[in-house]
Amino acid sequence: MSEFGDGALIACESLVRIYQSGPVEVQALQGLDLVVERGEMVAVVGASGSGKSTLLSILAGIDAPTAGRARVDRWDLLSMSRADRVRYRRHTVGFVRQQTASNLIPYLTASEMVDLPMTTAGVPARERRRRTTDLLGSLGVADFAARHPSQLSGGQQMRVAIAVALANQPEVLFADEPTGELDTATSAEVFGALRDVNRDLGVTVVIVTHDPAVSGQVERTVAIRDGRTSSEVLRRTATADDGGTHVIAEEYAVMDRAGRIQVPRDYREALELTRRVRLALEPDHITIRPDA
Ligand code: ADP
Ligand code: MG
Repeated sequence: MSEFGDGALIACESLVRIYQSGPVEVQALQGLDLVVERGEMVAVVGASGSGKSTLLSILAGIDAPTAGRARVDRWDLLSMSRADRVRYRRHTVGFVRQQTASNLIPYLTASEMVDLPMTTAGVPARERRRRTTDLLGSLGVADFAARHPSQLSGGQQMRVAIAVALANQPEVLFADEPTGELDTATSAEVFGALRDVNRDLGVTVVIVTHDPAVSGQVERTVAIRDGRTSSEVLRRTATADDGGTHVIAEEYAVMDRAGRIQVPRDYREALELTRRVRLALEPDHITIRPDA
C-alpha cells in the first residue's frame, strides 16, 4: 500500500499541537492533513487563531507537534534529532516571519544580512558574494544592497527578508503573512516576487495568510478552520471558444483518511443539518439529508 503523501515534498497527517497555558489546553492544530508537491506554490488561508502560524513553525522546525505525522523532504519532524533539526533549519527550509522587522538585523546592510546565513553554513566567500548578488537581483533590490533596514520601505524589507531566507538554497520557503503589514499595491509586488522565485529558482513556496484575496494569486489554496484542513480551491486557466482565456476556480471539500469531511456552515444552515444526517450511496455520488 502506498504511504500518505508519497513522493510529495511535504506531508502532514492528523497533525496535532496542543499548547498548555496554565490550566487551559489550547488545541491549535486538531488533526490537520496537508500535502504539498515539490515545486508548488500554495496558500494556506484561515481566520486569525485558526492555527496557521503554529503549522508554519512546526514545518520550519522551530516548534514540535504534539502528535500526528509530519514529513518534509526526507525529514520526519517528529523524530529528528537535535543535530538534524539544526541541519534541517539551515539547509532545507527558509522562513519569513510574520513581523517584517523580526526578519532583519538593524545594524547590517541588505547584502550583509543575505551573507550571514551562508557564513554560518560555511559557504566559501566567493560563492557567498555570487549568491548575494544573484538573490538581491532576483528580488529586485540589487540597488539597495548597501542599505540598512531603516533605509528600506516595507516592501523592500520584505524582499530582502525573502533573499535572506533563500541564501542557503532551501527546498522550501515558508512565509507567514508576508504581506500582512503592506498596502495592496506593495502586497501585489511582494507576491510577484514570490511567484518569480518559485518559477525561476524552483523553490517550493508555502504562504500563510488571513487575506482571502491572496487565493487569487496562486494555483492552489488550502483553507484551515479550527486547526483542521477544511477545503481547497484549485485554479486553472482555460481557453474559451472565442479564444479568450479565463480562470476557473473550483472548490473542494477535503476528506481525511478516516473519511471525515467538513460540511460548510451555509450548507448546514440551509438544510438545518444538525448532529445526525442521513447518508446514502448513489451510483456516482453520495447524498446527505437532514434527519427528519
Ligand atoms: P493563526 O496564525 O492562524 O492566527 P496561531 O497558530 O497563532 O493562529 O494560533 C492558534 C491558536 O493557538 C490560537 O488560539 C492561539 O491563541 C493559540 N496559541 C498559539 N501559540 C500559543 C502559545 N505559545 N501558547 C498558548 N496558546 C497559543
Ligand atoms: Mg499567525
